[in-house]
Amino acid sequence: MPASNPLLDALPLPAFDRILPEHAVPAITKIIEENQALLETLCSALATEAELLVPLEQAEARLHEAFSPVRHLRAVLNTPQWREAYNACLEKITEYETYLAQNKGIYAKFVELDQSDLGASLSTERQAELRHALQAFRLGGVALAEKEKAEFAQIQQTLAATCAKFTDNVTDSTQAWSLSITDESRLEGLPERVRALLQDDARAHGESGWRINLTPPCVQAVLSHAQDRELRREVYTAHATRASDQGPHDPTHDNTETIEQILELRHKAARLLGYDNITEHQLETRMAKNPQEVLDFLGDLRDRAKQTAKNELESLRKFAQNEYGLEPIQRWDLAWVSERLRERELNLSDEEVAPYFAADPTIQGMLDLVSELFGLQIVRREDAAVWHSDVRFYEIRDSGGDLRGQFYLDPYARSDKHGGAWMDVCMQRRQRDAEIQPGVAYLTCNGMPPAGEVPSLFTHADVVTLFHEFGHGLHHMLTRVNCASVSGIEGVEWDAVEWPSQWMENWCWEPQVLQRFARHYQTGEVIPHALTERLRESRRFLAGLALMRQLEFALFDFLLHLEYQPGQGARVEELLSDIRAEIDLLDTPSFVRTAQAFEHIFSGGYTAGYYSYKWAEVLSGDSFEAFEEEGLFNPEVAQRFEKCLLSAGGVRPAAEMFAAFRGREPQSDALLRQMGLAA
Ligand SMILES: [Zn+2]
Repeated sequence: MPASNPLLDALPLPAFDRILPEHAVPAITKIIEENQALLETLCSALATEAELLVPLEQAEARLHEAFSPVRHLRAVLNTPQWREAYNACLEKITEYETYLAQNKGIYAKFVELDQSDLGASLSTERQAELRHALQAFRLGGVALAEKEKAEFAQIQQTLAATCAKFTDNVTDSTQAWSLSITDESRLEGLPERVRALLQDDARAHGESGWRINLTPPCVQAVLSHAQDRELRREVYTAHATRASDQGPHDPTHDNTETIEQILELRHKAARLLGYDNITEHQLETRMAKNPQEVLDFLGDLRDRAKQTAKNELESLRKFAQNEYGLEPIQRWDLAWVSERLRERELNLSDEEVAPYFAADPTIQGMLDLVSELFGLQIVRREDAAVWHSDVRFYEIRDSGGDLRGQFYLDPYARSDKHGGAWMDVCMQRRQRDAEIQPGVAYLTCNGMPPAGEVPSLFTHADVVTLFHEFGHGLHHMLTRVNCASVSGIEGVEWDAVEWPSQWMENWCWEPQVLQRFARHYQTGEVIPHALTERLRESRRFLAGLALMRQLEFALFDFLLHLEYQPGQGARVEELLSDIRAEIDLLDTPSFVRTAQAFEHIFSGGYTAGYYSYKWAEVLSGDSFEAFEEEGLFNPEVAQRFEKCLLSAGGVRPAAEMFAAFRGREPQSDALLRQMGLAA
């Protein structure tokens, strides 16, 4: 064991230049032991803010701040060593969290404080913290009898490990597959920048020619642009069967059984706490009050968009048949035909747009926009330690120079990095002795890396993703709440967390925003007005089909968790085919295994919560309309948005935050209007 352990040092930022996998378990073990000793003393402390809440908050923060780099490095540098270190720490932390949530002595102290005169005199933040804590004790099983407590703890332990295994299986099957190409004619249609990337990847693996892998930009590029139908079919099949017993994958990574186990464990935990099913358990911490409210919401969207989606598919079919003799269109044709039709109808292609979105000016443009809106200064700093040379580090200061937040941005895909894009918490804003520790975020994207002479060029979809994640980042970093458990996104109802992120997406469609920073990477020419107008129009292009796809995922997740009964098992494929019969307009091949790689719901925290994207889009769409009505760059509306949402943490329910911002309840039509689907 190394002499000094950077995970145990109280540093302003994680020492990414020194943290090694072997530091993880010793650090987490030591902190947990110290925290457990502290919990013993807190049981006999006074039930006050200073004696109970402050020391517990500090102890919890220390543990989370030591664990966050471990969790993060497992996702962005997925080596067997990091994975093993993460899994070992996860086991210890899950055990500790359950021990804390079930600790009757500490719980009694929280109840005592809540019911005392002192409790009523606490700040609004602290009172919210108390409410959340009491709920967490209840949901952690504090009221269970000893035997059930032990059973619940065991379930949490096994569940955490099983969810981690789910992700490991997806990662392994994604990384294991590649396709070597030596005949360049198979790459017909693929843009030059994509070919250069595939060539780089082949070279890095000691091969000649081109190497196709399952990283998101590569799959996206092949499915949208490769003229070789067989190549599209091959890549589609590999991607749509990851972590299953279908397609080209190693069946030892099959998640079918993992899904059964996860559902069974979630169901047992919900039943122990007195809920009928997993969904009702999950809704306890959501805006939606009951399952029917969610089902009605999703059903209403489906009914209102279905005809549009049907018409869109019909026009795709006709176009594919007339122009390319493709009949019937298959799943692996959908993105390719859509892209061709978009070129035809809107005179717009990814390849025309991407040269205007080189990574560096695009990132800077987004930061400038946010700086102007909220009166911030966002500056890149070169002195922070990072885990890869692509990673940038920034700090956010307000107009008075006070530090508001800091973030790492890891923009490009790598084969050892998890797919998708996300924001994760590095440090939570909190009072740290006499100082304020600002929120620190990890922003992770998977844009196409630079290749040869060509810089990283983002598609417009990549730009939207970048803005989306930065919206989460703003919510985390601009908070002014100093109690860690209700600052930033903490304590916010899960079905409202996509509100700031999707609000941020709206800016990517505004011509006057894009013209500020989108410049051709070779000529320096500002993106033409006509192009931004076509881009804006393209938001509505095939929007009905895209909505149906999201509804398919949302309904599957919600019903799977609502209807699960141990006796009948998960019924994954049956349920999917029932939903597809109702919603899907194009046949799905029988080999497709959607659930087996659906990390959001099995290992990403969205249990019975995928509907949140659409649910929160009502809030984000309606909020953005306030900017459209009052002026996009009107500082008054931006300040109000910051005050009511971005800085407000989880102190108040989201419905109250929305009403404070908009002066009324949200209206779902905003979502449909943006998509051009409003009747
Ligand atoms: Zn999001």
